[in-house]
Amino acid sequence: MARHEIQLPDIGGDPGRECRLGIMGGTFDPIHYGHLVTAEQAREALALDLVLFMPAGNPAFKQDRPVTDAEDRYAMTVLATAANPSFYASRFEIDRSGVTYTAETLKLLRAHYPDNVKLYFITGADAIIDIVTWHDASSIASLATLIAATRPGYDISQAQARIAQSGLDFDVRYIQIPALAISSTNIRDRVRLGKSIRYLTSESVIGYMRKNRLYTV
Ligand code: NAP
Repeated sequence: MARHEIQLPDIGGDPGRECRLGIMGGTFDPIHYGHLVTAEQAREALALDLVLFMPAGNPAFKQDRPVTDAEDRYAMTVLATAANPSFYASRFEIDRSGVTYTAETLKLLRAHYPDNVKLYFITGADAIIDIVTWHDASSIASLATLIAATRPGYDISQAQARIAQSGLDFDVRYIQIPALAISSTNIRDRVRLGKSIRYLTSESVIGYMRKNRLYTV
């Protein structure tokens, strides 16, 4: 626990002022401009004071494919977010052992920050659609406002219906992000095929991938 506290940025020091903390949750394998635009637009739309980029730790829910080492995903997140003073790359999930559930992350953040800090969990709408089945979903609903980022043309009605049927009191804000036409899957595929990924993510991230031979096989 002490280790987590050291890694979290200091906000909410003025108890008389509401402070809004965005938590950008994703596997980030790799991080790309779609993620960065999402965080920036969420920050602006919801007046967030800071956005923590939190690469998922041990994503046991991803059984379909191997996920790149957490240190590599974190390093790329640091590189991509370094220039923005409102963004902070966090090791909070990757340093926790075992499966890292969002409910647990939010509980630890809630315990760490004073009450004037409000939590906003930002992720892709494709992930949010399953949120009612996530571990301890009711705690997620009570601890954070959700910001669901959609790609253009995405139909939010299915997600809305599932959430409504769950009977849980989720507060979900949907934001459409044209830049989310970029996807990590597409970037991995392009690298594997030797195609250009220039302008899909930052030069620093591309350099890191090349240097460490990520996604080539
Ligand atoms: P995913 O299923 O790999 O992603 C679903 C879709 O959302 C993909 O199209 C993905 O695009 C997009 N996406 C993911 N993160 C995004 C973000 N921050 N902003 C915009 N689009 C995003 O989802 P995931 O990345 O594994 O998980 C998303 C978050 O949900 C993580 O924080 C994870 O820990 C959490 N989660 C928790 C549980 C649980 O507690 N039981 C279960 C599942 C997920 P890209 O591939 O291009 O990113």
